[in-house]
Order: sequence, then C-alpha cells, then structure tokens
Amino acid sequence: MGIELTWEWLEGYPSLDFANTVIRRGWTEHELVTSADDLESWLDAAALPGPRPTSVDEDDLRAFLHLRDAALRLLRAAAGHGTWHESDVRTLNETLLGSPEVMVLGEEPGSLVSRAVGSPAPFTLLLARLAAAVRDVLAGPRADLALCDAPGCGQLFFQRRTNQAWCGPACGNRARVARHHSAGQG
Ligand SMILES: [Zn+2]
Repeated sequence: MGIELTWEWLEGYPSLDFANTVIRRGWTEHELVTSADDLESWLDAAALPGPRPTSVDEDDLRAFLHLRDAALRLLRAAAGHGTWHESDVRTLNETLLGSPEVMVLGEEPGSLVSRAVGSPAPFTLLLARLAAAVRDVLAGPRADLALCDAPGCGQLFFQRRTNQAWCGPACGNRARVARHHSAGQG
C-alpha cells in the first residue's frame, strides 16, 4: 500500500525540508519520494536554496535519494540518533565539490551573491546548495537541532526553547499514549 504524500512537516529550512522526506507511520519509516513525480511535488512544496529545475527525471531522483540518505544519517547523528559515518561525509563533500560556487559582489553595496563555477545543470546546482545547507547546520554545529522521537513522526526540527523534546504538542501526546500502552502490556 502506498503512503500518502504529505509535506505537512516541512519546516521552511532547506536542510530540514530535504531530510524530512522520510516519515514514520506508527514506528515504521516510509520513503515519501519514490518517483520523479514525487520529487516534482517536493520541489513545489519545499524551501529550496536555489532555482527550481524545470523538470526532473529518474537519474535526478537517484542522485537526490543518495545525497538525502547521507544527509539524513548525518543530521540524525548530530541530533543524537544513530552513527556518524565517514562515507556520508564523503557523499556530502563530493556533491559540494561537484558544483563549486564563488561568492561574488552583488549589484547593491554590501551584498554578496553566490555564483556557480561553470554551467552546472540546474538539478546539480540545487543538490550542491542542499548539501551546503546541511553542511552549515552540521559545521555550526547547531545545538538546537533535534529529532522528534514520537510514533508517527521522527522528523528533524530546530528547537524553539531549551530541551524541547517534541516538534509539537500533538507528538508529545502521541508519545505519552504510546508509553502508557506499552507500560500496560508489561
Ligand atoms: Zn513530531
């Protein structure tokens, strides 16, 4: 049975919108981007750090998922869930090196514009910008990065207050109910 596409979790940050394309139903994880059409839908909904490519194909989908998997593992590891793999760092860095950019002076005083070296394909440029957004969160590192470890969620978010455990009240309630049930079963 297919999982209904939902972008309700998009947080408005390119790094998180990228990683939050795997969701939990109960405790089971589901891939939301399983076709080029799904990817098109995500491109329409997500916060993009660069121009939206006009269209995407199966090769783009594979490249997207390859980088997304690495980014997701690294971000989860940084949030205290799972292992930090050197191979994932390599994947991220290779994407960055695949489409280097230079900060050039913008037209207004005091402005900077990032400009790609050469003429990368629009999707290659977008992936490199997504990798850069993830890099910036990890390199900071952002101490407010957290994973909402509730059934039906599992999304990464930035805490709005210290020690915020759940992305929202609904997840806190679901987690408490799940705990109550498992306690009841001994
Ligand atoms: Zn949540």
